[in-house]
Amino acid sequence: MSKQVVVIGAGFAGLSAAAYLAKAGRKVIVVEKNADPGGRARKREEGGFVFDRGPSWYWMPDVFEAFFRDFGQRPADHYDLKRLDPSYAVHFGPDDRLEVPASMDKLYALFESMEPGSSDKLAVFLTEARRKYELAMGGMVRKPGLSPLELLELRTIPDMLRMHVFGSFSTHVRKYFSHPKLISLLEFPVLFLGATPQDTPALFSLMNHADMALGTWYPMGGMGRVVDAMVRVATEQGVEIRTSTTVRHLEVKERRIRAVVTDQGDIACDEVVAATDYHHVEQQLLAAPYRSYPKSYWPSRVLAPAVLMFFIGVDRKLPNMHHHMLFFDEDLAAHAHEIYRDPKWPERPLFYASCTSVTDPHTAPPGMENLVVLIPIAPGLADGEAVRERYYQLVLERMERLTGTAVRPHVIHRSSCSVSDLEQEVNAYRGNAYGLANTLRQTAFMRPSIRSRRLANLYFAGQFTVPGPGVPPALISGDIVARRIIKDHHR
Ligand SMILES: Cc1cc2nc3c(=O)[nH]c(=O)nc-3n(C[C@H](O)[C@H](O)[C@H](O)COP(=O)(O)OP(=O)(O)OC[C@H]3O[C@@H](n4cnc5c(N)ncnc54)[C@H](O)[C@@H]3O)c2cc1C
Repeated sequence: MSKQVVVIGAGFAGLSAAAYLAKAGRKVIVVEKNADPGGRARKREEGGFVFDRGPSWYWMPDVFEAFFRDFGQRPADHYDLKRLDPSYAVHFGPDDRLEVPASMDKLYALFESMEPGSSDKLAVFLTEARRKYELAMGGMVRKPGLSPLELLELRTIPDMLRMHVFGSFSTHVRKYFSHPKLISLLEFPVLFLGATPQDTPALFSLMNHADMALGTWYPMGGMGRVVDAMVRVATEQGVEIRTSTTVRHLEVKERRIRAVVTDQGDIACDEVVAATDYHHVEQQLLAAPYRSYPKSYWPSRVLAPAVLMFFIGVDRKLPNMHHHMLFFDEDLAAHAHEIYRDPKWPERPLFYASCTSVTDPHTAPPGMENLVVLIPIAPGLADGEAVRERYYQLVLERMERLTGTAVRPHVIHRSSCSVSDLEQEVNAYRGNAYGLANTLRQTAFMRPSIRSRRLANLYFAGQFTVPGPGVPPALISGDIVARRIIKDHHR
């Protein structure tokens, strides 16, 4: 009889792990507390508008292709992928906007126009970024992070040292460029990793290759289409997905989990993959003797930011909107300080907005526009209605001023999501959005382990463990954990 694996959580990591484990011959049951799969990436449909409630940047298309290829399929079998051009727009002030072109020639010309001589430097910078990307994707990123020796197994150590991958990303960028807007442009992608450019290893200039060379894509219909596709792949492999089923407790006997106790009954298991917030599983589902990390471990970690988001429906087409817009008219260092060093509601936050109806009219009723506005904030902040209202007015006023477009008078739908919503909806530790940051000390084997230190059949996947935050890493983490389980329990 085939062994039964219970996967907790139907986010990207859980769906990926489930599909790989089923392909390897395991009987797999995914249990998900919400009524729909997708986790932080669940689709939000309100008042005829479709919103990406979580991820909206589809980067690293090669990682998605690799996932589907492992099941004999392609993304195109499931959704229509469109490359955005411009990839995104960055607003630095009123009438001061940079559109980042998809074409490399145009990108080089843009750099040269802003800082003479910088196009040659960009070519060198991006060649190294590509090399790092290949280095990571060629092996490093799929290591289970169980030992530092894994890095020594890589034949690329001399390359890594030559490229100073462990230096600071911020210093790395400044070796090449001095124009503040070009620096912002190059530093922005590492914000996805949940830490400041100063605290992020220079290895992650690989994100600039992902941004500028591989491009920004959009699955028509929104990120929910990718979730639907992964559900299809997993169920084709025989995975059973039980939604509206909340895990309450993990029952342990002789250092093994014997049953996953849910509000719908107990499920027997040979192995368990916890593809949800690590802290929730350790601190809330397991009794103290079976936890790998003490309670004091978690406050000592650097969490990636939480968010305050607004989902806005507008009763008309808006001029000057882009699919992805970054509002960088305030000081990144000051905002980062209020996220990481002195956690509090930010005085003058940078923010991001997306308007997918520019690309995909089906995400808003005819003649209308959908807007998602996202402000990164420190995890754990109190997020009552008054504070949400204050930030709604603050960022919408700035968006209107910087784009020269009146938005608020035309809003016919509005909702929000922040710390307390993510705590309640997905058991997010301190309401974090992106998991555990990829800082210098929280990369590879220094992240929480994919394998429990106390229980022989408990494994972890998702954005708290390797390789880190983001949708492509979540897909990869499912593969890593499945391979590790098969290796550890091959009989
Ligand atoms: C606002 C926001 C914007 C983002 N933007 C981007 C982006 O543009 N691009 C990008 O690549 N990434 C982005 N990310 C990050 C990306 O969404 C995540 O890294 C990824 O989706 C995490 O997937 P996961 O499977 O690890 O976790 P989750 O998606 O959180 O899945 C965990 C699942 O476990 C379930 N669960 C929790 N507790 C229990 C329980 N006790 N019983 C049963 N089920 C349980 C939850 O309901 C959830 O469905 C964003 C995230 C957020 C929140």
